Amino acid sequence: MIMVTGFRTGIGMSIAAQAKAAFAPVEAETRVIFLLDYDSFFARCMQQAYPPLRGKPVGIRGPAKGTAIIAASTEAKARGVKVGMHINEALRCCPDLEAVRADMDMYGEICTKSLRVLTGHTDKVEPFSIDEAYLDMTELAARFGDPAMLAQQLKRDLRAVLGRNITCSIGIGPNKMIAKLVSSFNKPDGITHISPDEVPGLLTSIRLSDICGIGSRVERRLNRLGIYTVERLGQFPRETLVREFGVLGNVYWLWGQGVDLAPVTPYHRQAQEKSVGHGLTLPEAVPDRRGFDGILQRLCERCGRRLRRLGLLGRTVHLWARYDGYETHDGFGGRRTLGPDISRELWQAVASFIPGPQLPQPVRQVQLTVSDLKRNVLQLSLVEDRVQQRAVQQAMDKVNDRFGDFTVMPATVLLDTFPLRNGPPGHGLCKRYVVDEEGSGLRGY
Ligand SMILES: [Mg+2]
Repeated sequence: MIMVTGFRTGIGMSIAAQAKAAFAPVEAETRVIFLLDYDSFFARCMQQAYPPLRGKPVGIRGPAKGTAIIAASTEAKARGVKVGMHINEALRCCPDLEAVRADMDMYGEICTKSLRVLTGHTDKVEPFSIDEAYLDMTELAARFGDPAMLAQQLKRDLRAVLGRNITCSIGIGPNKMIAKLVSSFNKPDGITHISPDEVPGLLTSIRLSDICGIGSRVERRLNRLGIYTVERLGQFPRETLVREFGVLGNVYWLWGQGVDLAPVTPYHRQAQEKSVGHGLTLPEAVPDRRGFDGILQRLCERCGRRLRRLGLLGRTVHLWARYDGYETHDGFGGRRTLGPDISRELWQAVASFIPGPQLPQPVRQVQLTVSDLKRNVLQLSLVEDRVQQRAVQQAMDKVNDRFGDFTVMPATVLLDTFPLRNGPPGHGLCKRYVVDEEGSGLRGY
């Protein structure tokens, strides 16, 4: 049992909640947390789907024109193939490498099936990336005893649904930090269980950077304070850490003692919106295609940004553009199913709904909606060409969140010169809305 008197905090709580919780006493951690991590996920999925690839070194290339290896099978890794290598370099160290393109749709499907199995065991499942998930198994463990046996049962159930070639490793501990840490101890297809009593011993054998959340930059800052070991981190004066890192100082201090109070947040609580959308009523009708394209691109930017901020993926895009005139209900639009979470993909989909190179009539109202939302579990995965795109998008989102919409935007949007109002571009009459859970209507905000 770990006794900590003092304060409690955890990543996953809001800053205010952390500050409030910081001084409540913590008695002990009695949870049973699993971190389930699929082994060489992308490559194993391919080996499961295509039997000739089984037992062979497989390198996964990016989904589009990828020239880099984004994942490798155990066999390929054993031959020196590393993630991030150029395909030619990988072929040099492993000439019989089977280089196959990533199939994101297939990974998404497998991920959904896996989540269905996991939520059959506990409703407290939090996907951490496409191939990792935290599970709070406290209640089941209290009823059925040995957590390692529960893990074995979970593996059997997953194998029955996904196939025997897709294996996973499970780390079990009293909290997320320990579960994540030990999940890599017995790879592939292993189970590692650390009981609360074993935590202090474990902490003496690991490095600071072994803790998920302590990257090289944080480690350097800790080193500057004279902290080189996890034990030292836990014994260090809390106040100094808080001065250096703010509320995260609390979190690091607790990690140093093997304590992590962050809850497992069920994924179904993370996606509540049914759809996100943006609508515009223009102060004057837009007569030409160029002006209309510019407006539509801005709406795509806004929708995409909102989806990314919420960590959601939409499968259906719906566009409706109404022609000018009080009486008219005419216009054009369409609905398409895909998985756009990046504004450019959204734009490509909706552009196909525009009837021709010229607008048949001037447009007065535009409505763009993305629905069929689900949690974007791909968000944390490393998929070559999306990584760069996503990094650019995230940087743009940060600037726009801070300084206002369209402070930074793609050059294609700048091509548009149609004034939405007397003011900076992008400040039209815009309304955001969500459809509530029952779908009973629009809730503007
Ligand atoms: Mg993995």
